[in-house]
Amino acid sequence: MSEKIQMVDLVALHREIEEELTQALLDVYSSGHYIGGPEVTRFEAALAHYLGVPHVVACGNGTDALMIALMALELPSDAEILTPSFTFVSTAEVAKLLRCPLRFVDVELDSFNISLEKVLEVASNKTRVIIPVHLFGQGVNMEPLVEWAEDKGILIVEDTAQALGTQIRMGSEWRFAGTIGIIGTTSFYPSKNLSCMGDGGAIFTSNAELARKLNSIAKHGMAGERYFYERIGVNSRLDAIQAAILRVKLNYLDQYNERRRKWAKRYTEAFSDLEEVITPVELPHSTHIYHQYTLRVLNGKRDGLREYLHAHEIPTMIYYPVPLHLQAPYRTGQTLPNTERLAQEVLSLPMHPALTEAQQDFIIEKVRAYFRKK
Ligand SMILES: *Cc1c(COP(=O)(O)O)cnc(C)c1O
Repeated sequence: MSEKIQMVDLVALHREIEEELTQALLDVYSSGHYIGGPEVTRFEAALAHYLGVPHVVACGNGTDALMIALMALELPSDAEILTPSFTFVSTAEVAKLLRCPLRFVDVELDSFNISLEKVLEVASNKTRVIIPVHLFGQGVNMEPLVEWAEDKGILIVEDTAQALGTQIRMGSEWRFAGTIGIIGTTSFYPSKNLSCMGDGGAIFTSNAELARKLNSIAKHGMAGERYFYERIGVNSRLDAIQAAILRVKLNYLDQYNERRRKWAKRYTEAFSDLEEVITPVELPHSTHIYHQYTLRVLNGKRDGLREYLHAHEIPTMIYYPVPLHLQAPYRTGQTLPNTERLAQEVLSLPMHPALTEAQQDFIIEKVRAYFRKK
């Protein structure tokens, strides 16, 4: 291999649009506006336009986005929050930080996502909020979930950190993940599908009053004018430099996601005859933008495959190795069979738009060789 294979190769990706990116960086350099300001406002407007939502509030990172979203809902202290255990820590973390009772929802084995059926196993009359996570780039089946939640007066906050650009079927239309619940959140952490060169996040909503609140909370609870406060907030801002990078890269998001889909298709075709490997499933209610390409490896062979690939300098990752409900700060005493099973089986392969055919052929060859197939 000429270039070392990486899980995500940002240098290769940024090299493709180097002129545009360096110009954007230089513009911020000479503008003198480094936090907030016109670059951030322009990016918020561009993302709102892309998603088709009226309000986007940029903030410091994806975890803050979730935190600010929950703060804006002004929940009573006994408001129970449901979220998956098979995900990154943020959703559970912010529920705990706000001292709300937390219950975990098991996921489906095929989609790695929660479903209404799994929600019904744990929902109670105290449940006030559900935070679905559109994991690995495929959307949760939102239509039945929304219908049920609306009926019960339960609010839905979507964690879209891994699914910016994913579309979900709602009746006869398709809507962007993150624009279906009362609030959607995302992260621009460097490994995400739309990413900056540091930390960044955003919150989306169609509700003007909520948008105003989200904005105020992200800026110390400010009441519109500086040094006047209407509530207790946090300090969570997007740097102008990150906004400028994001505005350039947003123009390429669909193209990048399309390239991920192409690589995913090649992987899936190449592994279709491996009996001990289950390739990702694309379900009819959502598109899949392959934030991760995640295999299930059966019969206890996951760790062996991983070591074999690492010996050939092919990186892999286990998202996520220990379910949250089995870790000390988040223990709920629940048993979640699918989540616990997946933690033993999942393996994510290198996946990013700048992957090359030669790199992918090499990865495919080695995966097949481990299972003694040519
Ligand atoms: C990355 C991620 C987050 C957190 O984003 P940060 O910007 O790192 O705070 C939250 N949820 C999910 C599912 C993520 O993948």
